[in-house]
Amino acid sequence: MILRKDGRNWFSNFIPFETPVVYQGISYPTPEHFYQAMKANRDDLAARRSVAAAGTPGQAKRAGRAVALRSDWNTVKVDVMRYALEKKFAPGTSQRMLLDNTTEPIVEWNSWHDNYWGYCTCPRCAKKQHLNMLGKLLMEIRDA
Ligand SMILES: [Zn+2]
Repeated sequence: MILRKDGRNWFSNFIPFETPVVYQGISYPTPEHFYQAMKANRDDLAARRSVAAAGTPGQAKRAGRAVALRSDWNTVKVDVMRYALEKKFAPGTSQRMLLDNTTEPIVEWNSWHDNYWGYCTCPRCAKKQHLNMLGKLLMEIRDA
């Protein structure tokens, strides 16, 4: 299922943290800002600050494509996403209450061919493997 409230996908990484996440002294307004900034090396604080300062999550996503990608990104990106989601869905937040009120499997249906974090429903992706990592992490947090 895709979880919606007030007509929006409330578990989108574009939705702000209830309280901005501060990491290495840098404040991140949304999970997208945080995730994209972590693509930069740990000591590349200028790059991380630049992503954190993006005006919108969409701009943060583009800024993340421009940073010099850390060499271990593929091995850490799931942990980075889990960290961001644990902050966003921290106990006591309204978003956690919404998550806790679900019982269904959580699948990030999409149409942009993202079969790693979600499940693209287009005919072209029908025979591909759909990992749905975002949905899996959300269920892991919900069911912990
Ligand atoms: Zn597709």
